[in-house]
This record gives sequence, structure tokens and C-alpha cells, in this order.
Amino acid sequence: MTDLRSMTVEELTAWCKDRGQPAFRGKQLFQWLSRGVSSAEEMTDLPKALRAVIDEEGDISPLTIERKQVSKLDGTIKYLWKLSDGNCIETVLMGYHHGNSVCISSQVGCAMGCAFCASTIGGKVRDLTAGELLAQVIFTQKDAGRPISNIVLMGIGEPLDNYDNVRRFLTLVNHPAGLNIGMRHISLSTCGLIRGIDRLAEEGLQLTLSVSLHAPDDETRSALMPVNRGKGVAALFAACRRYFEKTGRRISYEYAMIDGVNDTPRHAEALARQLEGTVAHVNLIPLNHVAESPLKPSTHVAAFQRQLEKRGITATVRRRLGSDIDASCGQLRRKAMGESRSERR
Ligand code: SAH
Repeated sequence: MTDLRSMTVEELTAWCKDRGQPAFRGKQLFQWLSRGVSSAEEMTDLPKALRAVIDEEGDISPLTIERKQVSKLDGTIKYLWKLSDGNCIETVLMGYHHGNSVCISSQVGCAMGCAFCASTIGGKVRDLTAGELLAQVIFTQKDAGRPISNIVLMGIGEPLDNYDNVRRFLTLVNHPAGLNIGMRHISLSTCGLIRGIDRLAEEGLQLTLSVSLHAPDDETRSALMPVNRGKGVAALFAACRRYFEKTGRRISYEYAMIDGVNDTPRHAEALARQLEGTVAHVNLIPLNHVAESPLKPSTHVAAFQRQLEKRGITATVRRRLGSDIDASCGQLRRKAMGESRSERR
């Protein structure tokens, strides 16, 4: 079976031509897939012969809802989607004044091993395909009946550890015949894979890079994030500088505030020193408590923010959405796995 949802308009055009169809059918097929059809039968303006070929040779299986939770507080919706191989991933839809933003997963599980994160507890099972990345946006939009204007690659998984599929996804979701979501409306969050940051910089895309920093010094960061044990924060900041030089895009640093671990005045001072003179934005996130972890949310978020701002560093505290529905990544999947143990490798 050919994974049609992972294919570009040009590839679908060639695919149709190879099957004796005119070139314009490729774009039509792409449009239908972007609208979230799950069978060839629904593609009513395609000839019967082509629909039969799609049925026979193409894989256009939809995501199916394993669980869905709607926040009573703010309307945030969290989906646990089942993929065609039985694995599950999470997608979160959040409403903001500027539109609907969807937070999507990039892998089934995660290999990065961050101490505070629920997504990595069972390790990485596999990468998502470009079509599965795209399907999260398509089927969330379809089910919720809300047009999606922004995408954040901040769900389960490390996007730069699945570089090629993520890059392909960006092309698909950005295409005018498809969802047509502009690069400036897309954010990609990474734990700091240097080679990936450099590769992305070379592409010169206008998306927003978010770096999950969580600590300004090697001692604290390496204790929390195994990825730091290789090259350390100096190399990470150097890569961020290169990224800014190439793209001109301000980098956003994520900083989950953990009680007694990374939230002291000493940490704030070290962070300010690292970011001084750079074009950066710090997003302070009160740690979400993860059942399997002893780490606790900080109670010094406001003081930390003030200390940064005094030093001229822009810092905001992230508004928490969907706190009543396990909306932070990895938690719903863990819960479902514990209850059903049905996940297959
Ligand atoms: N692998 C990517 C994207 C997925 S994680 C990355 O590391 O950026 C999305 C964000 O949630 C990251 O900033 C991650 O560090 C953060 N995060 C993970 N667990 C968290 C928790 N328990 N509380 C607050 N933020 C958390």
C-alpha cells in the first residue's frame, strides 16, 4: 500500500500519471486528503477507475478517536488518536484570541529521557510519518469543527529526531492546495539537538524555533536532560545564535519551573547572563506534575520572571490551558496504556 497522505502534490501528480490519469488529478487527490476523507468513495469528482486504484493501492486510513477530553474550564480538547498500527498519540486543540492552535505529536513515545516528562517514560516506539503528522491537524479540525490557524510541534516526541518526516510535513501543511498554514504560524519545539537546529537553520524557514532549555548551566541541565550530556549548553547557545543569524527569527526558550531544582535566583542570574544581548523570549512554565516523577512545581515563578525582566530579558508565564484534562503531553497516553496494555510495537 502506498502512503498517499505523506505525498506532496507533485508526487501525487506523478502517481496519477503513472496510472494513466491526467496530471490535475494529483492536486484533486491532495485536496481531498487535506479535507479529511477516509475512503476513495468520498472523492466524488474523481472517476470511478481512479477511485478503484486508490482503494486498491493507496493507504488513506484515518486517525480514529481512542479518547477525547474536553476541558470544562476553557474548551481545550485533548485527543488520544489511534494510528493504523494500533499505537496511540496525543493532540491538543487550544483556543486563543488569535485563533485555534493545535499541538501535535512527532513520535510514538520519545527517546530523549528528560526527567520531568511523561512522554519519554516508555522510550520511543517509532517515528510518525509525514502523513500521520498532517492527519493530526486534519482530523482535529474536522472533528472539532474549528478552523486551525496555528500549529505547535510540542506534543509527544522530539521533532528533530524525526527530521525528514517533520520537514516533509511542513511542506504538506504549508501547501496552498492543502491546509495552507503559513510558516510564521508554526512553532517547532526541541530539547536541543544541535545538528537538527543547524539543518533547520539551513532551510531558512520562517517558523518559530522553541528550545526547551529548562536550565542555564550544564550541572542542572545535564541532570534533567540527558541530551545535554554530550555537548553542553555552550554548544546549544552557539547553535541558537547561528539559527538567529541565518533566519532572523527570535528564539523562544521554554523553561519549566521545578521546585528547588532550577528556580533559584542563581539560576535566573545565570540565565540572564546567557541571554544578554540576544534576541530571545523566555516562556516560564509551571511544571506539570507527572505521577511517576518526584519533581514538584516551583513556587518562585513570579520572582524568577521579575529577576529576568530587570535584566532586560523578555519573560512570560505560560497560561495553563486544559489543566483539568491531563492536557500536558504524554499523560493521557500513559494512562490509557496502563489501563489497556494494548499498545503494539
Ligand atoms: N521534544 C520536544 C517537544 C516535546 S515536549 C522538546 O523537548 O521541546 C514539549 C514541551 O513540554 C517541552 O518544552 C518539554 O520540556 C515540556 N515538558 C515536558 N514535561 C513537562 C512537565 N511535566 N511540565 C512542564 N513542561 C513539560
